Amino acid sequence: MDIDRSESRIRAIHSDLLDIYGEQKWDRDSDGVRQLLITILSQNVADTNTARAAENLFNDFKDYEEIEYANIDELAKSINPAGLPQTKAKRIQRTLKALREETGDYSVNFLGKMDDSDAQAWLENIKGIGPKTASVLLNFHFNADVMPVDTHVERIAKRLRLIPFSTSNTRAHSLLNEAVPHEIKNSFHMLMIEHGKRNCSARNPTCENTKLKKYCSRYQLVENGDLKPEEYPPENLS
Ligand code: SF4
Repeated sequence: MDIDRSESRIRAIHSDLLDIYGEQKWDRDSDGVRQLLITILSQNVADTNTARAAENLFNDFKDYEEIEYANIDELAKSINPAGLPQTKAKRIQRTLKALREETGDYSVNFLGKMDDSDAQAWLENIKGIGPKTASVLLNFHFNADVMPVDTHVERIAKRLRLIPFSTSNTRAHSLLNEAVPHEIKNSFHMLMIEHGKRNCSARNPTCENTKLKKYCSRYQLVENGDLKPEEYPPENLS
């Protein structure tokens, strides 16, 4: 199965995901700084752990200034449920410092006035902020034309042959960002995550959704006996 991320194919996949899972709802956080810090906490960890760490963070410290200047061990202890507490504590403090130095306050509003690519570059210039964290803030908070690609999106995009299996996460952002139309970027992202959580896990995909099988190289390889269900990624695909 060849790589194909034509607009018509992406729209067809999006439409089938919508049929299966319905429109995904999310609570937009009106405070972009808070959303950015929560996204940092969410890096490489489950949603429940992110929520516990965020609750601790915003209960233990009264404002962003207190978080920026907190003792690093105290901050790490507060956000411990999110994992990598020392690393994430440093990322959070670096991010707040960068925002304060840019704006004189703690605000992300200036990013909404920049070109999407410039805003993305500004955020990624902060050590520890990668394409996913930057694009989550820009797409969810500002509806920017940028595509967040987390592990679920990346894995499923490879299985559905939107991108080659060998694609790095940074390259996946670039390729999917170009290919997915602006008006469905957020919905496509959310639906792919839902599909990854409910059916298309890394090791044990259920493959129950008949609508998606026709797009899926992994399913077809397993069905043909060319790939064992536990094998991933297929060795014979680039
Ligand atoms: S057919 Fe299976 S592996 Fe392919 S996208 Fe669906 S759940 Fe994932």
